[in-house]
Amino acid sequence: MQFTVAIDGPAAAGKGTISRAVAARFGFRHLDTGLLYRAVGAKGGDPVAAALGLTAEDLARADLRSMEAGQAASRVAVIPEVRAALVDFQRRFARSDGGAVLDGRDIGTVICPEAEVKLYITASAEVRAHRRWREVGGDAGQVLAALQERDARDMGRADAPLRVAADAVLIDTSALDVDAAVAEAIKVVAQRLG
Ligand code: C5P
Repeated sequence: MQFTVAIDGPAAAGKGTISRAVAARFGFRHLDTGLLYRAVGAKGGDPVAAALGLTAEDLARADLRSMEAGQAASRVAVIPEVRAALVDFQRRFARSDGGAVLDGRDIGTVICPEAEVKLYITASAEVRAHRRWREVGGDAGQVLAALQERDARDMGRADAPLRVAADAVLIDTSALDVDAAVAEAIKVVAQRLG
């Protein structure tokens, strides 16, 4: 069975948590596509060569979750050749047998426009920054500024910018707790599965 759940949205909106929960609930595989860009950014050197030669070891680095790795990822993610190098792997994963959940910025718009379910997970910048600040600590104002800078770069780039797909279901998690957000996403997928 081929069944793709495409989950897009800005940083710290809850995509990762929702994606893992949806995958676990339906027995689908899950790919966090942000990790690919984080690994390319963290590798240093020529980003196109890094994307073309990405290894499992690169993806297993312990430092990929940091704020700095997120910023580096969004800087290499504007390069069309970097994005092109990562397309085939993501498409194969999306259409692999048994169902797949992919989360990122361009899954429903570019990587898998034919996805059976598209979710756009969002929340206000303040709520997202607060969540991120609880994880990383430091200066709350700086966390908000960094998040807004990354959003602007992801939404403003020419190639595969972050956009709501026309046929996506929007879930705003600003006022939802984790359980409620997950339940909402699972409801949409269950309806589509029939
Ligand atoms: O989702 P995550 O915060 O890990 O993504 C890191 C960065 O990678 C994003 O800010 C974005 O610039 C880039 N990205 C992307 N397309 C994706 C996933 C992530 O451009 N599908």
